[in-house]
Amino acid sequence: MDIPCELLVLADVIVTQDAERRVVRDGAVAVAGDAITAVGPRAEIEPAAQAERVIDLGHALLLPGLVNAHGHAAMSLFRGVADDLPLMEWLQGHIWPLEKRLTPRLVHLGGLIACAEMLATGTTCFADMYLYEHEIAAAAEAAGMRAVTAEGVIRTPTMTYATLEEGLELIERLHRRYDGHPLVGCAVMAHAVYTTDADALRRSFALAERLDLRWMIHAAESAAETELCLKTFGKRPLAYLDSLELLGRRTTLFHCVDLIPEEIELLGKRGAAVVHCPRSNMKLGNGFAPIQALRQAGVAVGLGTDGPASNNDLSMFREMGVCARVQKAFRNDPALLPAQAVLDMATRDGAAALSLPHIGRLERGARADMTALDLSSPNLMPLHDPVSQAVYAATGGEVRLTMVNGRVLYMDGQHLTLDLPDLLAEAREIVAWAREQESVC
Ligand SMILES: [Zn+2]
Repeated sequence: MDIPCELLVLADVIVTQDAERRVVRDGAVAVAGDAITAVGPRAEIEPAAQAERVIDLGHALLLPGLVNAHGHAAMSLFRGVADDLPLMEWLQGHIWPLEKRLTPRLVHLGGLIACAEMLATGTTCFADMYLYEHEIAAAAEAAGMRAVTAEGVIRTPTMTYATLEEGLELIERLHRRYDGHPLVGCAVMAHAVYTTDADALRRSFALAERLDLRWMIHAAESAAETELCLKTFGKRPLAYLDSLELLGRRTTLFHCVDLIPEEIELLGKRGAAVVHCPRSNMKLGNGFAPIQALRQAGVAVGLGTDGPASNNDLSMFREMGVCARVQKAFRNDPALLPAQAVLDMATRDGAAALSLPHIGRLERGARADMTALDLSSPNLMPLHDPVSQAVYAATGGEVRLTMVNGRVLYMDGQHLTLDLPDLLAEAREIVAWAREQESVC
């Protein structure tokens, strides 16, 4: 039987992340247009697929493109600008004053730098919340990446809208602009319970319902947030959100570090998803999220890097490695959260948390989003277990290929959609800009 195929990708090892978690040795992925038409042993696929083009990766590990389910891409501009500070001093003394001086052009630049880094480290899809978010959508489009974008709903006036009504209109306009777009889409994202009020939360959720989009929010990120929420609303963050009827199948919560057992059970019952950002939680001194318990309660848990100022890199391979290790240390249990579970979080489960069921796996009918690691990198030798290697040993620096929707965007050190020398020149200017801004604060 002929397999429709414009592009055939060959690799020594393919980690499919399909329902059976099949690993194929000496494998092939057939691609037609934006979709995968077959995955299997090269000996079976190659004769049946009359490929117009072949990419033979040789000694490489091919896997689904990683899904970075939470971040603020433009904060790449602030990477390393102020580290190792208490949260409020970091935000109030450094990040917020710089953000007040952002322009659409700068947000676009930050978005492009982040896209370049994500493509070079195997990420094919990212979810983003920021201001001037149309610039992040445009950056993703220019890079050819898949993205779920959202202008943050936060206390008004903001730099981009004066009232809540205007903010919701802005979100709806961005959604209309990208409705039906093959790569870029929208969600409704509220910043947090402590930077909004009940009216903004309810109305943003209603907008998500009306447009049939996901609704997302930073929640239970720290004990300090819980304390503030208790003081202001008389409830812990999740109880507060639940009292407003905002926890449901449409909901994705970022962080969920400070949870009690009843809240874990509640999330499972409500069908809400969670995105875990372990390195951001560690760097900001917020603690450890109970990931195993959440997964046991049936919660879909994706993985994200959070913004580059609180991480400070966007490699999902490194995020996976830390995620797997930290959970074990947190619970004193080396058997907890095995490599396969963490790879699921970075692929299939992250896709579920973003309502993108057609990515996060290499199988017939899925979108052709994939990445490949160079198995001749010394840190990936020898190859006993491909999943272990991807989660514990890879850093992202071994990525040879990143493809989104059937289009190669990064190959052997070259970005095919982005001008790196140009980005570097602009990034250099940002250092002087940041110094100047900080000196006037
Ligand atoms: Zn965040």
